[in-house]
Amino acid sequence: GLQVENLSHSFGDRRVVDHVALAIGPGEVHCLVGPSGCGKTTTLRLIAGLEPLQTGRIALNGRILAEPGRSLPPERRRVGLMFQDFALFPHLRVAENVAFGLAGMDRRRREARVMELLAAVNMIPYARAYPHTLSGGEQQRVALARALAPEPELMLLDEAFSALDTSLRAQVRDETLSLLREAGTPTLLVTHDAEEAIRVGDRIHAMQLGRIVQSGTPSELYTKPANPFVAGFFGPVN
Ligand code: ATP
Repeated sequence: GLQVENLSHSFGDRRVVDHVALAIGPGEVHCLVGPSGCGKTTTLRLIAGLEPLQTGRIALNGRILAEPGRSLPPERRRVGLMFQDFALFPHLRVAENVAFGLAGMDRRRREARVMELLAAVNMIPYARAYPHTLSGGEQQRVALARALAPEPELMLLDEAFSALDTSLRAQVRDETLSLLREAGTPTLLVTHDAEEAIRVGDRIHAMQLGRIVQSGTPSELYTKPANPFVAGFFGPVN
């Protein structure tokens, strides 16, 4: 699984991630919640290696991804990322988009893998289509297949489903998370939707001003919020 210890990060003299610690076991889905600007995206960028590590330690399945003086580049971390604006390559067909991260694989294995992934996200009929001919939800499924293609050891989802309308959103989200759970891939999902966090998280981490102020199961956070901020996030019981 993933282990994050003592992770802090400042932009100039402003600390936006403050002593964050997280551990996500194989196949677990954890949610990171908190108000806009509290440091969620920066935390994910640090784990992915898109932001240089200042202090702390990040390890995945026993491999050190980053610690002071030692840092793997993003492409060697085996971390999958999916953001809200998950742009596909517009000039590449669906199958070519999914194959993009499989450059080192021989052609037959690569084609088999692409079809397996398109089957998993129900997109085989669209293999030869171009992204602009697909709906938002279809594009998101392709983006998911692309993110899963290199068999990441960790998946980071940052508001990855927010662009979709409510019913499609739940469907794509639930399919995505069940694929990840089946593969045993630890997953960290950033969301500002309390209901979503309660529904899908094995654990929830509530973040405020760069700190994780409470971690626990959804029912722990919902029934015993550690402070008024956490209580406010989950809203009145009704
Ligand atoms: P949101 O929910 O709105 O996406 P967030 O919790 O993901 O917010 P971050 O994007 O991690 O928050 O940003 C945390 C703080 O760091 C914000 O105040 C943001 O303005 C600031 N910040 C982020 N990136 C940079 C940067 N490259 N340079 C300077 N400040 C930054």
